[in-house]
Amino acid sequence: MSAHLLHHQTAPGSPLRPGVHPAWCARGHACGLGEHRAAPVTLTVPGQAVIVLTRVMGADGRQHVEIRTDVALAEGEAQARAHLAHILTELDAHLRRLISLPC
Ligand SMILES: [Zn+2]
Repeated sequence: MSAHLLHHQTAPGSPLRPGVHPAWCARGHACGLGEHRAAPVTLTVPGQAVIVLTRVMGADGRQHVEIRTDVALAEGEAQARAHLAHILTELDAHLRRLISLPC
């Protein structure tokens, strides 16, 4: 999966000519208003969590990944709050790891 996503990488900061889609663009309704969007990749833990990642190239040629996360919280107010605190801690650490390039 990762190798496929990286294979069609476009040079950063190099906007495409108008009307030209990068190889990874899903085309159709997925791109518009100057943006190009890949087909989303979904990771699922059935009944508990979903993460949807979408590669995006803005009109200025810069790329980013849009990540939407949905995690079911523990039952009960106190447990839900503790679960949220745990998620925030883990996401903060994970975010710091994600911004570095792979070795
Ligand atoms: Zn496109």
